Amino acid sequence: MVDATSERTIAEPYVAVVTTGGTIAMEHDEAAGGAVPQLGASDLAAALPSDVPRLRAEEVVNLPSSHFTLETLEEIRNRVGDLAREPDVLGVVVTHGTDTMEETAYLLDLTVSVEKPVVLTGAMRTASDVGYDGYANLLAALRVAAAPEARGLGSVVVLNDEIHAARRVTKMHTLSPATFQSPGWGPIGRVEGGAVLVGHRPGREGLPWRGLEPRVPLLKLSVGARPDLMEDALERGARGVVIEALGGGRVPPWWLPVIREARDGGVPVVIASRCPSGRVWDSYGYVGAYRSLLDLGCLFAAGINGQKARIRLMLVLAAAETAEEIAALWGHP
Ligand code: ASP
Repeated sequence: MVDATSERTIAEPYVAVVTTGGTIAMEHDEAAGGAVPQLGASDLAAALPSDVPRLRAEEVVNLPSSHFTLETLEEIRNRVGDLAREPDVLGVVVTHGTDTMEETAYLLDLTVSVEKPVVLTGAMRTASDVGYDGYANLLAALRVAAAPEARGLGSVVVLNDEIHAARRVTKMHTLSPATFQSPGWGPIGRVEGGAVLVGHRPGREGLPWRGLEPRVPLLKLSVGARPDLMEDALERGARGVVIEALGGGRVPPWWLPVIREARDGGVPVVIASRCPSGRVWDSYGYVGAYRSLLDLGCLFAAGINGQKARIRLMLVLAAAETAEEIAALWGHP
């Protein structure tokens, strides 16, 4: 049974649905000249078949996820945390734009430490398009959120009937409904009809929640790139810097002085990779490779991509002060 009202009168367990906008909530609008967020929580809930898990839906925002600020993330995180701790809530579904879904998923994974499933879903086709994938994805997400099998998985992304761990998942295609993948790992489970099948249970991690330090740029390296991007970031008061480095963690030699300057000034530098899969590590002895960066005291995003490393560093910097505290909280992601 569906109850999309905002009154709290239901004693039976239910799935809490938090809507935030994204293509799943979009329809074509003549005046705007394209699709814009239109569908609210009750529209999404009302269109589902009658055999879905009982749910209650509420809207936090109704925006494309490219319009989210860090305050929006904080609002979503706080609401999901509150709902997940309600005794009658079986699990929480967040409907979200796919563009930044992986970042919200990782933030929730690290800071909402509950056994109950927290499931993010969205759509790649608007409700005005033939083949709108929103209801199928929402239905699959509801099934996962209500499933005992999904307890203890942390935050997951469910689209295209696949279940992906927040830590591994990334948006891989600009248009395909099968956009979400976990490169090098694959999905941790699937939704097949009414069944939720979990094949692999990722380890859990948590970080303290003290907010997000905003002054953390993410810089991407490319061949022959000058270090002025990073020099500018330091001049503007960056509190931490994430570099999507080359391969297994390598920078051109002429980036080392600015990295040293950051470290000498107490600014942590995290090295992620611009490769979509694989660890950050290498065995080279040449200048600018992994060992140079290790010697300069950089931290490493061994198994998470640059955008998730930025979320992690923003969390760590809001909670830690000294270099030792920062390194300890950063850990070995
Ligand atoms: N533009 C959308 C967003 O809000 C993309 C999507 O939802 O697929 O991220």
